[in-house]
Amino acid sequence: MSVRNTLILNPSDLKYLLIDSLRLYSDNVVFIDGNNPYRFSINKKTFYVLIKNVHESGDGRANQDECRIQISESKNFNDAMNSRTDVIVLGYFADEKVFTAWNPYLMRDRFNQKQTISLYSRFSVQKQAAISKIAAYRDTNGQSVLSFLPDYLGLYLENLSKIHLLSDAELLELVSQSDNLNTQNQDGEVDFAEGQLTITHTRYKRDPRFKTIVYDAYDNRCAMCGIQLELIEAAHIVPHSHEKGTDEIGNGISLCALHHTAYDRSLIFFDENFNILINDSKMEYLQKVGLDSGFRKFQTLAFDKIQLPTNHTLRPNTENIKLANQTRGIS
Ligand SMILES: [Zn+2]
Repeated sequence: MSVRNTLILNPSDLKYLLIDSLRLYSDNVVFIDGNNPYRFSINKKTFYVLIKNVHESGDGRANQDECRIQISESKNFNDAMNSRTDVIVLGYFADEKVFTAWNPYLMRDRFNQKQTISLYSRFSVQKQAAISKIAAYRDTNGQSVLSFLPDYLGLYLENLSKIHLLSDAELLELVSQSDNLNTQNQDGEVDFAEGQLTITHTRYKRDPRFKTIVYDAYDNRCAMCGIQLELIEAAHIVPHSHEKGTDEIGNGISLCALHHTAYDRSLIFFDENFNILINDSKMEYLQKVGLDSGFRKFQTLAFDKIQLPTNHTLRPNTENIKLANQTRGIS
């Protein structure tokens, strides 16, 4: 049997993995707070997500294909379970880059009986999911444990109440419909025997006036590196998807395409004193997953401080900066 789990991600890595994965599905993703479980909203629905690395189930296991995650009660977890928000338990198997999800509605009873529980799946099912995008392991109690690519985490959450009831053929159909709609930037519904499932690929359109106001305030330059060259974009400080993500100038900043993406990906940010900072924990995560090439060059591109509009009334609002860093998972 080959060695498994060469890559183990720490909780902060997994948080960024969650944010990046959800954004593949919808722009409307907000990190709210929490520390494994993390509280997120996607398409305005809120969830707690507890995420763990999937590993072998130990020396005593009868089946070499068996894998599991273990969850122990913790204050954070108990608080989440006692809230009205759905608590999702996810495993991540980095070797195949797939998530595995257990039916959350069947979990509560088990926690009432024990303080630590093991949730099982199969390595072969995760491998299959890496090929066919989604796959189900059905255990002896008939529970369906779903493994899927990160692209479908949003789809999974959006259809949480029904998705564990679907057959293999229906799961494949759902994923294929989601792919079709995503290419066309559309939303849709799919009817199954279990009921209607929804697909919402929210992609935000910007207010065109916002762009002009931001460009003018910043003299058509990137506030982080000074570049013009028609490479700039009007970025929202608090994301547009957030209820406080307004199109007002105090929530806008002019960034080049590179720094806009880097800001939205939590790689670079600025504090309330306008210092530009690299997010070290995100960098560590990218290093682990082998996506850190070009970092040194990237580091040299930005100024130490945001280049602000001379007119004070056009500058970013302090509350927005704080909230923006929080929603991007920067603590
Ligand atoms: Zn720039």
